[in-house]
Amino acid sequence: MASDRRDRAVRAAVDQRLLSQDHPVAALLDTEGVRASAAELRAAFAAVTDAPVLHAFAVKAGPLVPVLRLLSQEGLGAEVASPGELALTRAAGVPPERIVLDSPAKTPAELTEAVALGVAVNADNPQELSRLDTLLSRSPTASPLGLRVNPQIGGGTIDALSTATPTSKFGIALRDQGARDEVVRAFLDRPWLTRLHTHTGSQGIPLSLLATGIREAYELAEEINEATLRAHGRRQVDTLDIGGGLPVNFASDEHTPTFAEYARLLAAEVPGLFDGRYGLVTEFGRSLLAKHGTLLARVEYTKTSGARPIAVTHAGVQVATRTVYDPDSWPLRIATYDAEGRPKDGPLTDQDVAGPACFAGDLLAVERPLPLLEPGDVIAALDTGAYYFTAHYAYNSLPRPGVYGHTESPDGTVHFTPARPPQQLAEIVAESGGAHRDALLG
Ligand SMILES: *Cc1c(COP(=O)(O)O)cnc(C)c1O
Repeated sequence: MASDRRDRAVRAAVDQRLLSQDHPVAALLDTEGVRASAAELRAAFAAVTDAPVLHAFAVKAGPLVPVLRLLSQEGLGAEVASPGELALTRAAGVPPERIVLDSPAKTPAELTEAVALGVAVNADNPQELSRLDTLLSRSPTASPLGLRVNPQIGGGTIDALSTATPTSKFGIALRDQGARDEVVRAFLDRPWLTRLHTHTGSQGIPLSLLATGIREAYELAEEINEATLRAHGRRQVDTLDIGGGLPVNFASDEHTPTFAEYARLLAAEVPGLFDGRYGLVTEFGRSLLAKHGTLLARVEYTKTSGARPIAVTHAGVQVATRTVYDPDSWPLRIATYDAEGRPKDGPLTDQDVAGPACFAGDLLAVERPLPLLEPGDVIAALDTGAYYFTAHYAYNSLPRPGVYGHTESPDGTVHFTPARPPQQLAEIVAESGGAHRDALLG
């Protein structure tokens, strides 16, 4: 989000009391920005191919029904990896033919539901293929079915998010002894298996490595199709699911790299991918939402410790889990505002921006040069639209903050609509066994 647009939204959020003493954390999502990113994604692929492309938003990046509904209206589908995520897409009205199920741990019940609905399923491993054999022998399905492969091409800068390492838990490890032949065999034995899926990882994977992973999957599809053409007279793999993983720039307001750059790189590196012989599925998450989200928190107290200034705010591990536990991999920019929500200036002073949770590492930023914060000021953690406030962590029974979509009239007036209300204390009690008070008393 451009900084002046963000500043107007922050001012309005304070004015309209979305952020207040009672609600010291609030999250903003720039609705028009999300729409623009969805449109850029579609245009980027339309510019390089006439093949049908399903852009399935990776739900884990923003698991809110109104977000899924918005993206669905923008022509996107959804990639889900749990019964909860599937339920959200259904609640949002995403049509089954635009849903892709990818979890590595699908239960028989999940598989049964998916093939009954007709949502696409990417099997993770040979045992899952056997389960599908059994299911399909009982009832036919409209579900397109695929297999996830791990090209084992290595990782990026964040180990935890690198899914194509030699020992990753995802998909069939293609370079393991005999694996490639087994994959070809799996397709020869199963005429219903028509897709290949690969996802090299998220954030920290260079574009060139993403492209290499996709080239490996493409080359495997070509090999499978030659084999099935010889054996059965048909090119069986008709769709390639190329995953997501476009990295986000957390260092400035610039949206780089762009979907268009990535699509052009793929067109150059894997030309056969786009020549019309394959349908395509993409699974972008972070790159669609991250830059459109802003997390706001009030400064409750300020203090010094060991001579270091510390601002104790209400945003910490519950809304910025990755940044708190792995700060080197997930630095966030912090913008500062005064108690009325006006940009705060002043000489920069190194200070820690701390969260409310009861452990020492609950810090959003360490020794960050910022205008010296005071109680009542507002801090904004930028680029937090994906995997932050929507991936709440229930530590210290801290409530989930409200999430507000915002748009702007031509005259600069900001309009908010709640996409998720702030969690009430009664809800926390309820989901913490409140109805089972005496359960452990014997
Ligand atoms: C997490 C995930 C994605 C989305 O990754 P982003 O980095 O958010 O684009 C896509 N596909 C699969 C299989 C994933 O696990």
